[in-house]
Amino acid sequence: MENKNENNLEESKTSLNFIEQIIETDLKNGKNESRVHTRFPPEPNGYLHIGHAKSICLNFGMAEKYNGLCNLRFDDTNPTKEEVEYVDSIIEDVKWLGFDWGDRLYFASDYFDQMYDLAVELIKKEKAYVCDLSAEDVSAMRGTPSQPSQASPYRNRSIEQNLDLFARMKAGEFPDGSRTLRAKISLDSPNMQMRDPAMYRIRHAHHHRTGDKWCIYPMYDWAHGLEDSIEKITHSLCTLEFENHRPLYDWYLNEAEVYRPQQIEFARLNLSYTVMSKRKLLELVQEKQVSGWDDPRMPTISGMRRRGYTPESLRAFSDRIGIAKRNNVIDVALLEHNVREDLNKRAKRVMAVVDPLKVTIKNYPVGQVEELEAVNNPEDESAGTRMIPFSREIYIEREDFMEDAPKKFFRLAPGQEVRLRYAYFIKCDEVVKDSSGKVVELICSYDPDSKGGKSPDGRKVKGTLHWVDAHHNIEAQVRVYDRLFTVSDPDGDKEKSYKELLNPDSLSIIEKAFVEPSVKNAAVLSYFQFERLGYFTVDKDSTDSKLIFNKTVGLKDSYSKENKN
Ligand code: ATP
Ligand code: MG
Repeated sequence: MENKNENNLEESKTSLNFIEQIIETDLKNGKNESRVHTRFPPEPNGYLHIGHAKSICLNFGMAEKYNGLCNLRFDDTNPTKEEVEYVDSIIEDVKWLGFDWGDRLYFASDYFDQMYDLAVELIKKEKAYVCDLSAEDVSAMRGTPSQPSQASPYRNRSIEQNLDLFARMKAGEFPDGSRTLRAKISLDSPNMQMRDPAMYRIRHAHHHRTGDKWCIYPMYDWAHGLEDSIEKITHSLCTLEFENHRPLYDWYLNEAEVYRPQQIEFARLNLSYTVMSKRKLLELVQEKQVSGWDDPRMPTISGMRRRGYTPESLRAFSDRIGIAKRNNVIDVALLEHNVREDLNKRAKRVMAVVDPLKVTIKNYPVGQVEELEAVNNPEDESAGTRMIPFSREIYIEREDFMEDAPKKFFRLAPGQEVRLRYAYFIKCDEVVKDSSGKVVELICSYDPDSKGGKSPDGRKVKGTLHWVDAHHNIEAQVRVYDRLFTVSDPDGDKEKSYKELLNPDSLSIIEKAFVEPSVKNAAVLSYFQFERLGYFTVDKDSTDSKLIFNKTVGLKDSYSKENKN
């Protein structure tokens, strides 16, 4: 495992990655009439995750960079696990990431007839045969890379017999699992993928697009190359697990005597503190460990969107990590770093208090309300300013007060003066407690000459606190997230399954936070920086009477800190 460091980050920005090198060589040599045509081929059996986002950025990115095209193709060859809900979510996610497939939205199932006809051609060339062995028999006879497979007793059936049986498989005469169509390639290839792999299996199942027309379905390797070939893909980019399938990809297309794209493998994205297998993510959803595929703790694109991650930050992240030939694990903090960097540029600043402590300013006129000017985004002057109300009673963050404060505590403490951001200097005169001794209110006094938080006489205060007016505010629920798993490699524990490594504290709900009134009517997914607290986005569960915010990411950047020295 190699870990990305700043050096590779720089490198990936300035030099060509190995896929770009291949493409540029092909363009130079005029291969494929100098076209670049890629595809993103998800199987619609789950929602897309951040690993898919990387593949999307790579495929659409290569097409964009080299004036080519990229198709969105559903690899829907497996009838039972696929659902229309997944198709819809995938379309939404790719669009949201900002990519456009034009009119090239394809479904592998649309090619079932062509695939069938080509399989018939292979039978006629004696390159495929119908085999009656059960799956168990096949695996018992399979051998090992150094030991040949036993030949199937059906391997030498005549062409006529194979054509007849294959037609009857298609016609539905045989039960599930009773027969397969197998490629006749090798009994002793050290590459086990080449040991007479199955091309078709019998599956009496309803398909989301072809209905009940088919009861035989093509296997991945047979189908995928043909899909690429039919769409005239030039560079078929896939993850490293398919490296030893490449000879089979090539064999199928050569034997079918059709156009052959070039398969190129790259390392899949792995993230720390994250599981990425769709099967595992589905289990989390089905067992209600999370609220759904779009739970903000999920590594899905829809979860990240709901959490407040922007498409720009996901694309920047994907660019930054580059393309590798060897599998590696990327620190999830780097993803958060990109999200933070993007939001810092764009998010409007507002003040919110999530753990309120009431402050009464005893020398401020009763009943008076002032509007104070606040900067919307110090990173972006064009964002302008807004007015926020201020009166005699406000809330501050409970942790910004300490009764017995150590010397270096520069926030509020008895007798100590602080600045209220955009408002005034205040000093704590009195601490009010309830019968249990809990601090419930602070009585303070303000300096009327410090309006705007400016020192009237050059005297300095070290702390600046955020605050919200106690009467003019919006009450909101705030959902705060921690990592979904307690360990950085939830797939890698030998004793415990990933489900036993779920973090029981990954979600905490703050029922009553106060936010300044300017967030009123904020749309779902609009994002803000709550000053000093982090970035927050409006959740879709919000109602007209209750705003709900998701914490997107905190302000502290653990990634740059760890990687700078
Ligand atoms: P599963 O989790 O069931 O193995 P999959 O991740 O292979 O599924 P597909 O829908 O087949 O899911 O993936 C679509 C494309 O996304 C494929 O080309 C695949 O290689 C790519 N892809 C999937 N996971 C990652 C990942 N972690 N990093 C980069 N690319 C990925
Ligand atoms: Mg797959």
